[in-house]
Amino acid sequence: MFNSLSDRLTSTFKNLRTRGRLSEADIDATVREIRRALLDADVAVPVVREFTGAVRERALSSEVSGALNPAQQVVKIVNEELVAILGGATRPLTLAKTPPTVIMLAGLQGAGKTTLAGKLAHALKGQGHTPLLVAADLQRPNAVTQLSVVAERAGVPVFAPHPGNTSAADDPAADAPLIGDPVGVARDGVAFAKERQHDVVIVDTAGRLGIDEVLMQQAADIRAAVNPDEVLFVIDAMIGQDAVNTAKAFADGVDFTGVVLSKLDGDARGGAALSVAKVTGRPIMFASTGEKLTDFEVFHPDRMASRILD
Ligand code: GDP
Repeated sequence: MFNSLSDRLTSTFKNLRTRGRLSEADIDATVREIRRALLDADVAVPVVREFTGAVRERALSSEVSGALNPAQQVVKIVNEELVAILGGATRPLTLAKTPPTVIMLAGLQGAGKTTLAGKLAHALKGQGHTPLLVAADLQRPNAVTQLSVVAERAGVPVFAPHPGNTSAADDPAADAPLIGDPVGVARDGVAFAKERQHDVVIVDTAGRLGIDEVLMQQAADIRAAVNPDEVLFVIDAMIGQDAVNTAKAFADGVDFTGVVLSKLDGDARGGAALSVAKVTGRPIMFASTGEKLTDFEVFHPDRMASRILD
C-alpha cells in the first residue's frame, strides 16, 4: 500500500532538496504536487484541501524560512500533518472497569469483520484475556460457521445459534437463542460471557455489500442492547473513494468509536486510510494486514506517516 503515493511524495521532496532558500513559488509548486499525489491516491477532496492548506501555511511561515535546512523542514511539516490526519496519537482499546469489555464489530460485508474477530481474540488471549466471540451475523448462512472456524483457529470459544456452536449449545444450562434474532443473540452472548467470566466479548454483526437501512438499524439495535465499550468499524482499505461515504454512514448509524483498516497488505492507494479518521473524527485503532491470525497490528499514525514518507 501507499507505494505510488510514497514514490510521488519522495520525488517531490527530492526536487525541493536541490534548492537552498525556498521561494513562495517553490512552495506552491510543491504543495500542488502533494495535492495531485493525494488526489491520485483517492484521498477525499475535503481532506486534501485541508491538508495542503495547512502545509502551505506552515511552509510559508518563519518555521521554514528561518530553518537551517528549509526543504527538510517542509518534509517535517508534511510528516506532522500526515500524523495529524491519521488521528495523532495511538489510541488503545478501552477496557471496561467492570468486565466484560464488550467490543462490537460493524462494517460492510466482506470488509473483514469475521477475520478481525479472530485476530483480535487471538491477540487479546495472548495478553492474558479470556475472550468470547459472539456470532450475531445471522444474515449469511455461512457467517456463523465461519466465525466458529475463526474462533477455533484462535483457540477461543464462540457463542452462536446453531450450527457451529462449540460453547453454548453444548451446555444445557445455556439457552441457545433462535436463529433470526441477532439482537437476542448479542444480548444473550454478553450475558453468557458474564456468567462464565469471560473478560472480553467480541460481537460480530452482519453487513451488506452496500449501505442498508435495515441492517444499519439492526446494528444500532445490537449496540443499544449490549452497550459496548468499543464499536469498531472495519473498512476494506481497497474501497477507495467510497470509503468516506461508507464511513460517514456507519458513524451516523452506529456511532462507532474506532476504525480498523483491513487489507492493508493489498495494493490500495491509501485514500481510505488517509481520509477516514479525518472525516469521521474517530481514530484508526488497528490494521489488518493479511488472512493469517497474526496479520494484525495496533495502528500507529506516526509509523504510518513515516512509511509513506520513507
Ligand atoms: P466480513 O464479511 O466483514 O466478515 O469479512 P470476512 O472476514 O469474511 O473477510 C472477507 C474476505 O477478506 C475473506 O476472504 C478474508 O480472508 C479476507 N480478508 C480479511 N481481512 C483481510 C486482510 O487484512 N488482508 C487480506 N488480504 N484479506 C483479508
